[in-house]
Amino acid sequence: MEELVEKAARLVANARKILVFTGAGLSTESGIPDFRSPGGLWSRYNPQDFYFQRIISSDKSREKYWVMSTEFYDAMKDATPNRAHIALKEMEEMGKILAIVTQNIDSLHQKAGSSPEKIIEIHGTAFSVSCLSCGKKYEREEIQSRLLAGEKVPSCDACKGILKPDTISFGQSMPESKMESSFRYSRECDLCIVLGSSLVVYPAASIPMQAVENGARLIIVNREPTPMDSVADVVIHGALGKTLTALMEQLRRISSGPQ
Ligand code: NAD
Repeated sequence: MEELVEKAARLVANARKILVFTGAGLSTESGIPDFRSPGGLWSRYNPQDFYFQRIISSDKSREKYWVMSTEFYDAMKDATPNRAHIALKEMEEMGKILAIVTQNIDSLHQKAGSSPEKIIEIHGTAFSVSCLSCGKKYEREEIQSRLLAGEKVPSCDACKGILKPDTISFGQSMPESKMESSFRYSRECDLCIVLGSSLVVYPAASIPMQAVENGARLIIVNREPTPMDSVADVVIHGALGKTLTALMEQLRRISSGPQ
């Protein structure tokens, strides 16, 4: 493990434009469950129930959706960044980070102090809600209060339209300009670091793949194997907080010592 961390730190030290690609695993150490680990959200809910077409099809489906979403948001709203988020902020201070493309909707990169202009939330954010008819935007906290007060399926107070958190559900189209920027960064980067993603959710997972196809080196840190392990330069199957703390220590040592 130590050797792998050292190899990863050397790749980071030699890189100038790093694209970081993060998934739900980055935030489990902040107390937010991921989807696919044991005890994750999909062990308690059926993902089939949360396809976009289902959500918009009936009040019954929306009620189910808001129950899951309320639990998820509750775990997220007061969560604080962990050592791995902080390590990425430090990497940015070292002038290494081109962009952070995150599948997470929890705002923890922002809370850790990474620059908002470097963060692309390709699956949106859990912290706001929009009306699918008139586009009126709400703070999530306002809708959460309505849910906690007993409303089961909140609707738009301006037009009675369907409300939905500003997150991308299965079957919902991806935000075009965010995807374009992400793919541009994947062509520009010289190193891609994948952190805490099972790399099975598409089209998001094609972003690191495109980076590799364009000649970037690849580091993957994830507790379990991923479909892209075979094309990575370094794969570390370990816990993120511990691994990134060790990587930053090595990186500081390499950066301060004789090369
Ligand atoms: P995923 O649940 O499919 O995969 C997470 C991966 O992280 C797993 O392979 C797991 O082994 C690994 N992991 C978990 N904790 C870890 C740790 N401490 N150290 C190292 N590895 C760890 O998540 P995904 O690939 O991001 O894709 C699922 C979708 O889930 C995304 O679209 C995202 O929008 C959504 N999601 C977001 C959050 C969040 O915002 N925090 C939480 C759950 C799901």
